[in-house]
Amino acid sequence: MPEAAETGADPRHGARLTIDLGAVAENWRRLGAQAPGTPCAAVVKADAYGCGLGAVAGRLWREGCRTFFVAHLEEALAARQVLPEAAIYVLNGLPPGGGRVLAQARLRPVLNAVEELAEWADLSEGRLPAALHVDTGMNRLGLRMEEAVALPGSDLPARAGIDLLMSHLVGAEVPDDAVNARQIEAFARVRAALPGLPGSLANSSGIFLGAAAHHDLLRPGYALFGGNPVPHRPNPMRPVVRLESPILQTRSVEAGERAGYNGTWTARSRRHLATLSLGYADGYPRAGGAQGRALVAGVACPIVGRISMDLVILDVTEAPGARRGALATLIGDSLDVDTVGRAAGTIGYEILTGLGSRYVRAYVE
Ligand SMILES: *Cc1c(COP(=O)(O)O)cnc(C)c1O
Repeated sequence: MPEAAETGADPRHGARLTIDLGAVAENWRRLGAQAPGTPCAAVVKADAYGCGLGAVAGRLWREGCRTFFVAHLEEALAARQVLPEAAIYVLNGLPPGGGRVLAQARLRPVLNAVEELAEWADLSEGRLPAALHVDTGMNRLGLRMEEAVALPGSDLPARAGIDLLMSHLVGAEVPDDAVNARQIEAFARVRAALPGLPGSLANSSGIFLGAAAHHDLLRPGYALFGGNPVPHRPNPMRPVVRLESPILQTRSVEAGERAGYNGTWTARSRRHLATLSLGYADGYPRAGGAQGRALVAGVACPIVGRISMDLVILDVTEAPGARRGALATLIGDSLDVDTVGRAAGTIGYEILTGLGSRYVRAYVE
């Protein structure tokens, strides 16, 4: 048997991304179980956090998810292809003049300003649903509090077909941050001013802030894809993403030899190195070089030297299983997306949404 078949390396040479759709579905159920009786939506913007919009959205629909959020109109149109019946909300709102395209595809804008509300009201006349976003502390998108509580005197919410009132939490992953209580209180005030409209506040981490944050619709993204919504506690979610690369070649270097661009790493003793088939062009962050690790047959091996566009060098001296064609794990097992993000000086969200399009992708249950 050829070595590649023996080791599971893909002869197409690239790194391999395996996405566990069964784990996405299980995570969606687990998040919903935090608030029994409250429907759980799915945020699938940015190609479902890099995991593939079509595959993820289709799987979650089969699991019973009926409401989806994306950021862009273009993403919503792609989601509509796989979700003919779902409620699909466009978080980034109503693009100027974009109303007809939204209406034709039965998409729902998240109206982020009075101007958007008025524009949609003229098109909808109460027939086309939309969400209304009120900013309770982010100062990013959404009506200001004073604009929202002044709305009851106007016919705009009814004419714009508002069927969901929403806001977004600033720092729900830090449960002690006083901003959470302030936003929960502000959102309750908005809902009292506009009675009769269902509300949605909680992102992944917000779901774990308790019942006061739950309202009528949960809105998780990151945790669906295995990210830890409670960073101060063990991750309650199942891992979704596994990233593996074949070792292209191994070599021994003597003490004093350098490796990688600009020779930023120097061997202190005789070391065994392995070169992997992925790099920053695949979305593996170049800044991950300093602290990054990959697992070879279960042994954590440090990344050495600069990460190249298409290649990464590992110190596999402690990993006897390292040889041409063997697989190294860059995300998976003890290297979860949060750990990989931290090692690169960023967050797991950025690791997921940066997952490259040239990986050989496999979807499993
Ligand atoms: C991205 C986003 C979410 C999902 O947040 P996660 O932290 O990924 O769960 C929810 N609501 C809004 C408005 C968002 O932009």
